[in-house]
Amino acid sequence: MSRDHVPTLEEFVDGVDKRNPGQPEFIQAVKEVAASVLDYIKDHPKYHEHQILERMAEPDRVVSFRVCWQDDQGNVRVNRGYRVQNNNAIGPYKGGIRFHPSVNQGILKFLAFEQTFKNALTGLPMGGGKGGSNFNPKGKSDAEIMRFCQAFMTELYRHVGEDTDVPAGDIGVGGREIGYMFGQFKRITNRYVGVLTGKGMEYGGSPIRTEATGYGAVYFLQDMLKHVGKSPEGHVAIVSGSGNVAQHAVEKLLQLGAKPVTLSDSDGFIYDKNGIDEEKLAFVKELKNKRRGRIEEYARKFGAEFHGDAARPWRVPGTLAVPCATQNEITADDAKMMLDNGIIAVSEGANMPTELEAVHRFQQARILFAPGKAANAGGVGVSGLEMSQNSARITWKEDELQRLLRDIMQGIHDRCVKYGGETGGKDKYVDYVKGANVAGFVKVADAMIAQGVV
Ligand code: NDP
Repeated sequence: MSRDHVPTLEEFVDGVDKRNPGQPEFIQAVKEVAASVLDYIKDHPKYHEHQILERMAEPDRVVSFRVCWQDDQGNVRVNRGYRVQNNNAIGPYKGGIRFHPSVNQGILKFLAFEQTFKNALTGLPMGGGKGGSNFNPKGKSDAEIMRFCQAFMTELYRHVGEDTDVPAGDIGVGGREIGYMFGQFKRITNRYVGVLTGKGMEYGGSPIRTEATGYGAVYFLQDMLKHVGKSPEGHVAIVSGSGNVAQHAVEKLLQLGAKPVTLSDSDGFIYDKNGIDEEKLAFVKELKNKRRGRIEEYARKFGAEFHGDAARPWRVPGTLAVPCATQNEITADDAKMMLDNGIIAVSEGANMPTELEAVHRFQQARILFAPGKAANAGGVGVSGLEMSQNSARITWKEDELQRLLRDIMQGIHDRCVKYGGETGGKDKYVDYVKGANVAGFVKVADAMIAQGVV
């Protein structure tokens, strides 16, 4: 491809496709960003001269390693671990660790790429990374989880550090796993530093880190609605997932007067026509975080509907949607159904839960659509604040962190509006996908140019 002209989307994606065979999620994520920023690059040739997008779409490094551990029966088990360090132009690599059987290099490259833009959007100095393993935590004993986490960290510790790369949790990695990994890092290195975020409050964690992603996604929803003179109050909300992000999204929706009616896990979804209230949410937290049970139990306990066979909740009528499970859980057909049912706003709590074609449908319908890299950035935002507290060896008060999270989400919304271009129509339409991609791109790109060809 000639350096003389800015590539077309097809040319650019074709190159990415050739260099990353068998990694559809990574190609999907890069394509979505390229579709938003190539026009901007055309208008600002310095980004093309410095080959910024090409460099961003090539991770700084991908580390892959063997993780050996023993199960409770004494069998030797082998998994694969990864850390993808995508870009550290604006700060140390930062991004979660995922333990799920579906984890592979392509999925982690997509997540690390997305994370680069997301972290830039928070306004905090954090680069983008992601890691994980194809280890399946389901059905494992506490002791097995501990041994696996220790084995994983026994290799990962060489690649991370408080000023190098600071991982956090993600699917399958919550407070328990972070604790075991932190303990092993400390044992191996004999250093007590903020190498991980999402830690327990007793050993360097930050108030509201657990709540931040779900709360933030609903704050973003609130800001989008406010921008067009509306509020979440009185709206029926469809939520997927039932883990960390989903639980706190439901909590914030309730606080803002909306009526969440669904939750899901990999078995299927529950539909509670009466609404999921605080008491029912407390049951979900106990079910999922302590007993690690299945969401179907909710239906039995509260007389709600359960739809099995891994069904997703998008057929349920509602005006707001907050997908909080995993990537590509809303298809183009789902999007059509949601639009037919009168959806007005979607805020992605999960990373890339909406397939590209479904995103296009939402955009064509000009509903409010917030991509994950903007809407779910509250988690990493508070992680950034956890890093600051660890460096200073202090803990800020919860009120202060609540206020800072609210400010971070508001700031991201403003940046999206700045670059998402109001079209001047009566509906004050903002293209949040474009806004998030261009705003994140510009910040990282300018830092890369300032630091030369490295
Ligand atoms: P959890 O592990 O706490 O919960 C994940 C939930 O999604 C579970 O209900 C799980 O069901 C369901 N799920 C996971 N994979 C699948 C699948 N392949 N099909 C159907 N359901 C699935 O993870 P989090 O809540 O932390 O993360 C959820 C999403 O939010 C992810 O996309 C993550 O990347 C994103 N995110 C998380 C952040 C955080 O701070 N935790 C920050 C930013 C984004 P089951 O129990 O059956 O597996």
